Amino acid sequence: KDFRNNVKPNWCPGCGDFSVQASIQRAAANLSLTPETLTIISGIGCSGRISGYINAYGLHGIHGRALPIAQGVKMGNRDMTVIAAGGDGDGFAIGLGHTIHAIRRNIDITYIVMDNQIYGLTKGQTSPRSAEGFQTKSTPAGSIESSLSVMQMALTAGATFVAQGFSSEVKDLTSLIEQGIQHKGFSLINVFSPCVTYNKINTYDWFKENLIKLSEIDGYHPSNRIMAMETLMKHNDLVMGIIYQDKEKYSYQELLNGYSKEPLAYSRLNLGRETFDNLVAEFM
Ligand code: SF4
Repeated sequence: KDFRNNVKPNWCPGCGDFSVQASIQRAAANLSLTPETLTIISGIGCSGRISGYINAYGLHGIHGRALPIAQGVKMGNRDMTVIAAGGDGDGFAIGLGHTIHAIRRNIDITYIVMDNQIYGLTKGQTSPRSAEGFQTKSTPAGSIESSLSVMQMALTAGATFVAQGFSSEVKDLTSLIEQGIQHKGFSLINVFSPCVTYNKINTYDWFKENLIKLSEIDGYHPSNRIMAMETLMKHNDLVMGIIYQDKEKYSYQELLNGYSKEPLAYSRLNLGRETFDNLVAEFM
């Protein structure tokens, strides 16, 4: 199935988000999804435009709120594959509360963060992922705050799938997205997706020099949470691959099945006008 549409992305040439778009499209095709069975909900930021560039159901939502909408879509139709997508400012600043609770709730959706360590849409300000000392218009003397370690945060919040990719490694990124979609539960995939226009520090070359593949670390196994945390700390979070996966924990949907088997999307609520009026009156 073709997940391309006729909308031309207006990202800057070279922006890492192009590769994320291609990787989602390839992963969806490899998993034999169809545009009718895939929904992409995005937040605000350059990366938030992604939902408009993929031939699937989509909603370009509001700042920091992609996850509540995406979780609602999944609860309304459990047969739908749901991807939430956005930038590091969207998910780790204004939307961080939603990110933490989606992680611990373990609803079966995939969250892809395009992490460029800066606010691109608003023309280059320091983000929660910018390193200490990072200079932008908002921190001309260098940031005095620490960068948020989102992978370590996700592990301590009880995440069941934590992975990290890089826009230059499309094949690996596609595989990570496929595995994230197939994971039963919440999957968080942080993607180093360079902003070529405003971030002149964390460039493609910088990531190529500093990132290491977990598959090249002897004895690394993503089922070991302690090993995952120690590896992140040792390598300053600059690793690629599946950092941690718990294949045993029940997802929110599985735990709910004892209560209701029928997704809301398939319910037929023939309430009738009188019943509806009475219901409304109860809340007045
Ligand atoms: Fe991409 Fe940066 Fe351009 Fe936004 S400003 S489209 S993040 S390169």
